[in-house]
Amino acid sequence: MEFNEIIERIVKSTNLSAEVLNSKINDKIAELDNLVSKEGAAHIIANELGVNLIDSDASQDFVNIKNLVGGLRNVIVLGKVTDTFPVTTFEKDGKKKQVGSLSLNDGTGFARVVFWDDSINIFKNIKENDIIKVINAYVKENKFGKLELHVSYRTKVRVNPDDIDPKSINATDKQSKAEFVDIVEIKPDSFVKCFGAIVQVYKKNIFFNVCPQCGKSIKSDEGLSMCSEHGKVSPSRKMFVTFVLDDGTGTIRCTSFGRDAEVIMGMPTIEAIKLADSHEDSTFPVDSIKSKILGKEVFIYGRTSLNTFTNSIEIITSRIVENIDYNVELKRIAEEVEFGDKN
Ligand SMILES: [Zn+2]
Repeated sequence: MEFNEIIERIVKSTNLSAEVLNSKINDKIAELDNLVSKEGAAHIIANELGVNLIDSDASQDFVNIKNLVGGLRNVIVLGKVTDTFPVTTFEKDGKKKQVGSLSLNDGTGFARVVFWDDSINIFKNIKENDIIKVINAYVKENKFGKLELHVSYRTKVRVNPDDIDPKSINATDKQSKAEFVDIVEIKPDSFVKCFGAIVQVYKKNIFFNVCPQCGKSIKSDEGLSMCSEHGKVSPSRKMFVTFVLDDGTGTIRCTSFGRDAEVIMGMPTIEAIKLADSHEDSTFPVDSIKSKILGKEVFIYGRTSLNTFTNSIEIITSRIVENIDYNVELKRIAEEVEFGDKN
């Protein structure tokens, strides 16, 4: 809320003039040793005067997905479901447990929403393109900065709430238009979504040089690194990894760059660079994680093309979502419950 708007509201709900109010705000700033902004002081004054600045139904109640950070509790997020991932059943201590998740987009970013146990019944009634309001969720952030909202027993989920106009959520996403396909049915020049396990990863140099300013790949000219746009630069390294995905119907070769490559490798680029440099071997990072990567289950989104050299179809991924590792997740939940009980 803008400062002027706050002043207007306070003036409207009290008998104070704007002049008196402004001097009260200045006094408050002085009283707090200039630690607060004018807006902050106005909020404090409003509170002291009993003026409610926050509408109960205001959009300020929501947190934009782009502003979410790991560790936030009790957040409210509103968005459109762009993907639902299948429910999986597994056993823990002799009990059957279920987990499901979906991708939520509010026009500012994506978050994965994870449903466990009892909340799975809510999840089963949610379809792609539904609008959902998630109240009191807990935010987790993995080491690649990808966000997850965990639905616990404290969380309420409203599906297609009456008071929300679906058109007010500007969640356009080409990923959501991708068809879920069996690998055996994949055709070239299409946008696909598939799910499978990584069965091979190629041992090779996984770095290439890019311009630190624009991220485009650079040419080497007489020993100098040249960007077509920025001229002579000292390059930074970006990661790419090639692997084979198997979904039981077939296998396909996939290549991932940047963030996606980090998800596949299970490590940030900077860590992979350190590993390669310390061993003076740019193929070392793949070797070191191979046993961890193989068998890893992922959802893949990407563009397919025909490699005319090998005459086989390949995917360049545009987004990768790791399947949930139950053991890791259960540990997280145990921690969350423990933490919650202490409060
Ligand atoms: Zn450049």
